Amino acid sequence: MDTISCNIPVDVDFPVPTRVSRKINPDNTIVNVSGVEVGGSGVVIIAGPCAVESKEQLFETGRAVRGSGAKILRGGAFKPRSSPYSFQGLGEEGLKLLSEIRKETGLPVVTEVMDTRQIELVAGYADMVQIGSRNMHNYPLLKEAGMCGKPVLLKRGMMATIEEFLLAAEYILHHGNDQVILCERGIRTFETSTRNTLDLSAVPMLKRLTHLPVIVDPSHGTGIRWMVPSMAKAAIAAGADGLIMEVHYNPEKALCDGHQSLSLDEFAGLMTDLEKIALAIGR
Ligand code: PEP
Ligand code: MN
Repeated sequence: MDTISCNIPVDVDFPVPTRVSRKINPDNTIVNVSGVEVGGSGVVIIAGPCAVESKEQLFETGRAVRGSGAKILRGGAFKPRSSPYSFQGLGEEGLKLLSEIRKETGLPVVTEVMDTRQIELVAGYADMVQIGSRNMHNYPLLKEAGMCGKPVLLKRGMMATIEEFLLAAEYILHHGNDQVILCERGIRTFETSTRNTLDLSAVPMLKRLTHLPVIVDPSHGTGIRWMVPSMAKAAIAAGADGLIMEVHYNPEKALCDGHQSLSLDEFAGLMTDLEKIALAIGR
């Protein structure tokens, strides 16, 4: 067994890529998202709708999640939908709404980029760019994210191993950007009762192998609204540096992922519980 300088034994059977490795860099990387630090002593909650749908939807939801203690606002303007007939997002109009709500609430915004041709546009509006599960293996996009000048929220591919996930992050660091947050969002298994199987064991494993912050997405990780609070609490207890959750002012009417979105009240209640758990584990 190999031992790294911070006394954490590394006993995995694959070589951890160098730039992301805790062996090379024992100290936690703190990612600064326009003043909000992720990966430090506190737990950071990112919340908002799956997709930006309208000014009213974004503003009502954004104001409410801020009031409940969210520190970063999420909202997709370019949506990767399984069906080409589903709502694809508002595009640049959605990005403009995100910068408007940032101005009003002061919350930094994170939004997904799906295509190298859009990265300049998206990075121009966003405080942090998200690379989604479907694009974790999109190496040209990872390279561009390394050069985009903004922090990157990298979601685990739904069929990616921990090693592949770390190698994808390595691409971004290798191309000049060490401001990367890793997000466990569930993987595909034989289980069909949930949308994905949320792999919470990825949290301690990643924290051991890499200095990058690790957050969890219990919304896509379960796909079921009532299950989100349990898994959110479990993720914090497991050592996650934060959570990203879907919240909607009217989940029944959501154009995307309403079945896994918390209502404003459910989110407020969960935030109270999360505070107690964070306190209990000294964060
Ligand atoms: C999302 O965050 O809305 C999303 C599409 O996530 P994922 O890439 O994890 O499916
Ligand atoms: Mn979604």
